[in-house]
Amino acid sequence: MVTDTTPTGSPGPRGSTGRGGATLSGTPVVPGLAYAPALVVRQEVAAEAVARLEAQGFPDADAALAAYDQASQAVAEGFEARAGAASGAATEVLTASAGLARDRGLRGAVRKHLRAGTGITDALHSAVEQFVGVFEQMGGLMAERATDLRDIERRTLARLAGEPEPGVPTPDQPSVLVAEDLAPADTAGLDPNLVVALVTERGGPTSHTAIIARQLGIPCVVGVAGALATVPGTPLLVDGATGRIDTTADPDRAREQVAADLAARAATAGWTGPGATADGARVKVLANVADGDSARSAAGAPVEGVGLFRTELCFLNRAEEPSVEEQAEIYAEVLSAFGGERHVVVRTLDAGSDKPVAFATHPGEENPALGVRGLRLAFDNPGLLDRQLDAIALAAERTGTPTWVMAPMVATVGEAADFAERVHGRGLTAGVMVEIPSAALLAHRMLEVVDFLSLGTNDLTQYAMAADRMASDLAHLTDPWQPAVLQLIAITAHAGRDAGKPVGVCGEAAADPALAAALVGMGVTSLSMAAAAVRPVGAFLGSVSSGQCEEAAEAALAAADPRCAREAVREVLGGGADRIG
Ligand code: PEP
Ligand code: MG
Repeated sequence: MVTDTTPTGSPGPRGSTGRGGATLSGTPVVPGLAYAPALVVRQEVAAEAVARLEAQGFPDADAALAAYDQASQAVAEGFEARAGAASGAATEVLTASAGLARDRGLRGAVRKHLRAGTGITDALHSAVEQFVGVFEQMGGLMAERATDLRDIERRTLARLAGEPEPGVPTPDQPSVLVAEDLAPADTAGLDPNLVVALVTERGGPTSHTAIIARQLGIPCVVGVAGALATVPGTPLLVDGATGRIDTTADPDRAREQVAADLAARAATAGWTGPGATADGARVKVLANVADGDSARSAAGAPVEGVGLFRTELCFLNRAEEPSVEEQAEIYAEVLSAFGGERHVVVRTLDAGSDKPVAFATHPGEENPALGVRGLRLAFDNPGLLDRQLDAIALAAERTGTPTWVMAPMVATVGEAADFAERVHGRGLTAGVMVEIPSAALLAHRMLEVVDFLSLGTNDLTQYAMAADRMASDLAHLTDPWQPAVLQLIAITAHAGRDAGKPVGVCGEAAADPALAAALVGMGVTSLSMAAAAVRPVGAFLGSVSSGQCEEAAEAALAAADPRCAREAVREVLGGGADRIG
């Protein structure tokens, strides 16, 4: 149990994170304690090697391009070899990186710069930055590709200079990985037995690093200013619940704390559900899934169903809209993994912004997060929504699984009513996501027209705080513990209680045990999360009373900022959430 630390919680405005004597602090993302030497990832190629490459040069642009081709081919092959040794999502990530290393557009840009007389290092850098600019402008998940591209630049440069590729080395002992940020290609192959915690200078609570850490179940703190200055090998005590990293912890004491934390975590592994507080107040614990594979794996967890099936993730690589029949087959794969008492909430396409889908998204929007995404795609293309609803209804009929359908990015009661009519017309249960503050403020009226609400706290936080959820510099704002976000959640949950209809949470907030307890205290009836978080959250809920949850909700709502809210809730709940994660 972490009783000897002063929780620091989420950082204040940019610059207030960072060194405080022997302690670093950042945004806590995945709870848990780890104590191990720092493995500091140097992502730059040695300056001397680059200088040597530049001094040596190439006879002409064609020779430089041939060297580029050879280097980028070697980088792509390296990714492919790792993809072959990996599995699941990791294989996909590494294969995508191989494709990016060989990208014809990138090669064309390099060639153009070389032919204009630019040296190889500058030509490569300019070409990469040109594409980074495009990806960053698209924002969201596409902005994550910028991290990939910069990783490819460094690897290609290393190959050109005859150096080993930089990146995450394989640790020879359990280590805390400290990096500026981690490229998806780096995180895809991590072994949680050797990388026991992640600490990054950049990245926010919904960054790629955070998502991978949650999947691996290892403590993670992001947005830690000054982390890269850590001397390699320094033993770090990482507290993923408070965001605090102690660089001078007493080794014996630290090991005791970690052992206690591990024991508490192991105890959660035996949680078998169903979700309830210690005094028996029921709360549905559900899983978030993306496809048939993740649904089958989640079906083995003690969940009462799926609270969020992100259908757009099935189509990120599709140029053409799949037929109704093909869609029905894809949805039926997920539905058939559940059934009986276990229902599935299918979300209609949330294409756009961070999840562009070629056949649905409006290209070239100035500000895609505020543009035509989610349900808005149906405004000028209602057929797209109708065909998807037909396919969901077919899948529901074929599998017999209780199927609820919800729309993302709903701003008005009129939109909710129109959506509900289409869903009810197909004999299914209809709901909408609460991701836009307007939907939270009008939750009671939304509930007059739909059967349930589901709080998408990732986007609700983004829109309430006007802070891009992928912007690492704004991690202190994109924090669901922000008082304004908690108020919007409370308004929505109260409306659900008044109407006697379910109000769930399916954003990342549901995976934080302490926050989950406070959400239950506000009146939330279900919590949906990555399967890896199910047991820790379920076990923690089972250890606190509904009275404590209500007190935690009051304390969080009364707090002035996220740090105070975390502290106040920890006080009410007795710090138990720190030991579970
Ligand atoms: C959310 O916004 O909280 C949510 C669950 O949707 P997504 O993360 O897919 O945008
Ligand atoms: Mg969302």
